[in-house]
Amino acid sequence: MTSDSFFEKPKNGEPWDVAIIGSGPAGLTAAIYTTRGARSTIVFGGTAWGGQLMLTSEVDNFPGFPEGILGPDLMNNMRKQAERFGTEIRNQDIESVDFSASPFVIHVNNEQVLAKTIIVATGAATKWLGIPGEDKLRGRGVSSCAPCDAPFFKNKKVIVAGGGDSAMEEALVLSKYASEVTIVHRRDAFRASAAMQQKVLSNKAIKILYNTEIIELFGEQKLEKAKLKSTEKGEWEMPIDGLFVAIGHIPQTAIFSKTLTVNEIGYLVRNSQDGYETATNIPGVFTSGDVHDHHYRQAVTAAGFGAMSALDALRFLDMEKEN
Ligand code: NAP
Repeated sequence: MTSDSFFEKPKNGEPWDVAIIGSGPAGLTAAIYTTRGARSTIVFGGTAWGGQLMLTSEVDNFPGFPEGILGPDLMNNMRKQAERFGTEIRNQDIESVDFSASPFVIHVNNEQVLAKTIIVATGAATKWLGIPGEDKLRGRGVSSCAPCDAPFFKNKKVIVAGGGDSAMEEALVLSKYASEVTIVHRRDAFRASAAMQQKVLSNKAIKILYNTEIIELFGEQKLEKAKLKSTEKGEWEMPIDGLFVAIGHIPQTAIFSKTLTVNEIGYLVRNSQDGYETATNIPGVFTSGDVHDHHYRQAVTAAGFGAMSALDALRFLDMEKEN
């Protein structure tokens, strides 16, 4: 028990009040709320804990940081805040959950962990282009994280794939290092916000190829060139040193999708009822963040959903006690 916590951790074989799967802004905000609500809370944060913000540089739109904050610093702060109130955070990937048992049974590293309620906050992972050469050259010129890898491309030629805010952000970071940055977008207009588009369009170091697809990558030890195809020019090859893929994300629902309801693109479906806005199809299982939210996908909205799911879990536990 930490000096600021309001509960005793469960002893061997006893269930946790709340198990949170995922440690991005949604999961860690949920943990801050459930622990301050005096409920024992364990977070399975994954071997790569912290979510997408761990791969971001400056975050300028999270309220409370007038000068901005680095993504990893923001996540470290959230983690420390959750731990301050007694959250147990494990950097482990769970294998499965038995949602039919009561309490629920989480299988992780040959161990079974019991929980009365579960909050699924597993987020979403990078979507890749799925073109020949991409898998082989990942980490050898192909990346999805400019803030992590841009310095390796000093004075080199890079392409960014995509037309959303992520692609704009990647290109802007890369423009500080690379000699040439080209955004390749499959349509004739960006999907990104006006503010981000403006930053890109006013950056002379960034070129744009609209109506163009990347169809193949070449290179043995490292990426050497890409084959492109456009409606106007047909197919051609471009020598490049780096490709940054920023075409969106895939919700991390594979291990739940047989039991929890997902939509046609794999996102968890919220089954809001009885005032539980973050409920899933299984009573006592809640969801928060990018794993169910295909629309807003902001750190601050994920944190907001985290708070909502925690308040739902706390009310569910209180109702169980009364019954
Ligand atoms: P997104 O908005 O879904 O954009 C994905 C882009 O990739 C779209 O332009 C899409 O083209 C393109 N695309 C998708 N699949 C493709 C494929 N197979 N081949 C080629 N192109 C493909 O994703 P995002 O940019 O990652 O942004 C996700 C959310 O996070 C958004 O809500 C965004 O506002 C937010 N975000 C905010 C910030 C910020 O505020 N600083 C930074 C990053 C992300 P189409 O346009 O043709 O569909």
